[in-house]
Amino acid sequence: MSVYGGIEAGGTKFVCAVGSGPEDLRGETRFPTTTPEETLNRAIAFFRQQQATLDEPLAAIGVAAFGPLDPDPASPTFGFITTTPKPGWANTDFAGVIRRALRLPVGFDTDVNGAALAEQRWGAAQGLDTFVYLTIGTGIGGGGMAAGRLLHGLLHPEMGHLRVPHDWEADPFPGSCPFHGDCLEGLASGPALEQRWGRRAETLPSDHPAWALEARYLALGLTNIILTLAPQRIILGGGVMQQPFLFPLVRREVQELLNGYIHATEILERIDDYIVPPALGNRAGVLGAIALAQNVGGEENGE
Ligand code: ADP
Ligand code: ZN
Repeated sequence: MSVYGGIEAGGTKFVCAVGSGPEDLRGETRFPTTTPEETLNRAIAFFRQQQATLDEPLAAIGVAAFGPLDPDPASPTFGFITTTPKPGWANTDFAGVIRRALRLPVGFDTDVNGAALAEQRWGAAQGLDTFVYLTIGTGIGGGGMAAGRLLHGLLHPEMGHLRVPHDWEADPFPGSCPFHGDCLEGLASGPALEQRWGRRAETLPSDHPAWALEARYLALGLTNIILTLAPQRIILGGGVMQQPFLFPLVRREVQELLNGYIHATEILERIDDYIVPPALGNRAGVLGAIALAQNVGGEENGE
């Protein structure tokens, strides 16, 4: 079995590993995201050092990155982080730098598409071909598949920035998104919770009114996704979803908002198996990068 390198490139930290799947993940390392030059050089140094100890050459590198980015292999800026507001990272040729330094094919996609692919291969979306992976953390991001293909198109989905109804009287918080104010991310991300309530989300007790409001906003977003894409399952990851009581609240709100309209037992009777946490937990990210590496040469990421 071939061995691959994976880079989970987050806005605050990078996680790099080599391996071939959940039962075979080796030499994991993590370091903070600083400048592109410093951070990419640390990743390259890690893989060179790993390569020296492996019996066989790495077959490919996968990158599952924060965005916005260009995932289209036919585009001249394929593999770039494009318009990110993160200082120093706009227009960074991420995949090109890695490919030239390590002389390996590079698979490149969003962190959430990577996590979705890993969940399909080894986790909570096995056997499905149309599903969504959403992270509720520092930002909100969504990826997934339709008819067995990772979701791409014009660029890539930006489900975190869905517009949802905002009752200003019940919730006067204007929202935290620098682009839209009160989009889904602006109303329901970890930083939105912190700014609205004046304390970090992980310190809000389970009976705090924050959570009913949070469940309502997330359910509004999920309802729009369900009505648009008809996913067979929705996986919710990220720091905010570490609060286990949030899952039943969100499920109930989704059922209420859909009001019986979607005639599927998955939603009407088995919603506990429809809106679920990631089976790969916090390893979905780095395993997503490994899965993207395995896809190189295939349709999705061929170069
Ligand atoms: P990132 O999105 O940066 O990759 P996370 O998914 O961990 O990282 O999201 C971080 C956000 O999640 C922060 O806003 C933090 O307050 C919130 N968060 C982290 N852990 C918890 C928790 N146990 N309960 C609620 N919110 C949490
Ligand atoms: Zn937004």
